[in-house]
Amino acid sequence: MNFNATIKTLDVDDDTLRSHLQSAEIPTLLMTVAHLSQDMSVLKDAWRPVFEFGVVVNRMSESEEREARELCLRKLAEFRDRKMQVPSKPTFDQLHQMATWLIGPQIEPFLPLVSEELVTNDQDLRQPRWTRQQIAPDRNFHVAIVGAGESGLVAALRLKQAGVPFVIYEKNHEVGGTWLENTYPGCRVDINSFFYSYSFARKIWSDYFSTSQDVLGYLKEVAREYGLYEHIRFNTEVAAMHWDESRCAWDLTLRTGATEHTSRSNIVVSAVGQLNRPSVPDIPGQKDFEGVSFHSARWNHAIDLTGKRVGIIGTGASATQFIPQVARKAAQVTVFARTTNWLLPTPDLHEKVSDSTQWLHANVPHYSMWYRASLALPQSIGILDAVMVDPNFPPTETAVSAQNDQLRDLITKWMEPQFADRPDLRDVVIPDSPIGGKRIVRDNGTWIATLKRDNVRMERSKIDAITERGITCANGADYEFDVIIYGTGFEASKFLMPMKVTGRDGMDLHATWDGDARAYMGMTVPGFPNLFCMYGPNTNLVTNATIIMFSELTAKYIVDAARLLLETGHDAIDVRDDVFERFNERVDEANALRAWGFSRVNSWYKNSKGRVAQNFPFTAAEFWRRTHEVVATDYHFVDAKAHQVAVDLDLEANEAA
Ligand SMILES: Cc1cc2nc3c(=O)[nH]c(=O)nc-3n(C[C@H](O)[C@H](O)[C@H](O)COP(=O)(O)OP(=O)(O)OC[C@H]3O[C@@H](n4cnc5c(N)ncnc54)[C@H](O)[C@@H]3O)c2cc1C
Repeated sequence: MNFNATIKTLDVDDDTLRSHLQSAEIPTLLMTVAHLSQDMSVLKDAWRPVFEFGVVVNRMSESEEREARELCLRKLAEFRDRKMQVPSKPTFDQLHQMATWLIGPQIEPFLPLVSEELVTNDQDLRQPRWTRQQIAPDRNFHVAIVGAGESGLVAALRLKQAGVPFVIYEKNHEVGGTWLENTYPGCRVDINSFFYSYSFARKIWSDYFSTSQDVLGYLKEVAREYGLYEHIRFNTEVAAMHWDESRCAWDLTLRTGATEHTSRSNIVVSAVGQLNRPSVPDIPGQKDFEGVSFHSARWNHAIDLTGKRVGIIGTGASATQFIPQVARKAAQVTVFARTTNWLLPTPDLHEKVSDSTQWLHANVPHYSMWYRASLALPQSIGILDAVMVDPNFPPTETAVSAQNDQLRDLITKWMEPQFADRPDLRDVVIPDSPIGGKRIVRDNGTWIATLKRDNVRMERSKIDAITERGITCANGADYEFDVIIYGTGFEASKFLMPMKVTGRDGMDLHATWDGDARAYMGMTVPGFPNLFCMYGPNTNLVTNATIIMFSELTAKYIVDAARLLLETGHDAIDVRDDVFERFNERVDEANALRAWGFSRVNSWYKNSKGRVAQNFPFTAAEFWRRTHEVVATDYHFVDAKAHQVAVDLDLEANEAA
């Protein structure tokens, strides 16, 4: 595949163009035409969309839309007939004008971040602007990345571009992480794929919200296209890592099958994900169950669920995706849910991208880039404001602010008509918690339709025990099942587990954290020099931006740390205690004032100590600003006695970088 292919001309007649423009997203089309024609006047005030709750709503009448499409047709025809040059990236001023037209003045702080999302094929602003060859050609320097999910892959790419030798250790047989392991029916992204993909590798997707297979296919293509496969050691689990003080390097213990071996690197990047180790609750009697049971991330495809009695524990993001699929086959489905999730109305959740829309992406210069911008601009802001606690409101379990209450009303109004024929479900399904207290789940009406099926029931009582034949509940209900499926999520707060990580002075990372993982910007921990986490503590995003965007920013920061070491000649950096503490205090204060920190609802955003260790409570613009480059004064330099580290160069992959 050729990502971000250059489109040099527009080579079709007016009728063809007119017919394709019918399916164009109006704001995207207008921004594309403004850019191509360098004429900002096409962004008329009267056509300005409305930005509310993280979404751009087009308020144009049918006749205005017709007028806008005709204007765009004329401008594009002129662009074609006059053989005008495709301009490269818009200027910052042009982006500013377009973004303000689309969103309003509140977009201003996000512009430097979104500007980096506008990748023309000749400009990828997050690519390192230096190489090891230029700044430290004689220095042995090596990076080990743990994990080949989307985070590990982007870190690898950036190191490769900087000419820094690296290897990726991956416990699985293939890249993809989340998207390799989650094969349950109905698994798909819940962020539009044109945004949940790398900024530097845009793809024309066939679904707006792609299936896990398609995301996996994309990550494989990225790994192939950028030559990353040859750097990956598959079926190799990092069991432990130990900081060797005298050499200032990490010694890694690697496990491949029954064999253990070691390797050494200057920097370790942990890209092991937050949602990689399935969580199965400890329920009495679990082992007694005589039927089949499995976790959603370890789907047992050998079991045909047709005609089976199925018990499903959990109603989180995965469960709401697979329960509708299971209900179509099974004789009876019982869903056990202690709490429920708010639904985010998403009509196009299962919609295919039409041929005409795909044509526009492939044939109109920069349309694809502006479509991504039309997603990145509103979603970088998202609904963070609507989940902030207003102490004067006063906040309750119903709503934490006036805005939060407004959003609750909006979504309730969308849900309520769906209960018209089943009023009994209303109070069972509409959450007691404020919006943002738990993960919000996208839906297009499928979820409530599924719960209304004759063969589906929801049980809100606590599970008491699993028996030989099924599940018994605190309310005395006793169910018999052939299959039990755990939709119970992941060990999200057990960061970097089960790796044993030993830092300076023999410090054990997990003992230090004591079940309450913290890091500076989710990445660095005092006493663990040159260890960088991706998707680490407090970097989960639930109301704004995407994890992939944060991975790109984190990778940029980590590669900048490598630059700092190569430029200064120091061996390692160790984050200062006061910097780490101050950052975490701010995070905790802010998280306490977000719906997920305020609400008493049970959620995976909180760890066993009750602290929110998952979520990033600030804006994406703040993450961008703080990861833009490493501030050297945030760190101590650490140097070995024998200054140059003799890294393990038996790895051919290292040499090839
Ligand atoms: C079902 C599901 C749906 C999701 N949907 C979305 C979505 O729509 N939008 C969104 O933004 N996010 C979503 N997420 C979150 C998702 O996890 C991230 O978006 C992203 O995939 C994380 O990538 P990662 O590379 O950081 O971690 P992962 O994808 O989890 O990859 C981690 C990799 O590290 C490897 N690994 C772990 N430990 C070791 C070890 N010790 N040694 C060697 N290798 C190791 C694993 O095998 C894995 O390949 C979803 C998560 C799940 C589970």
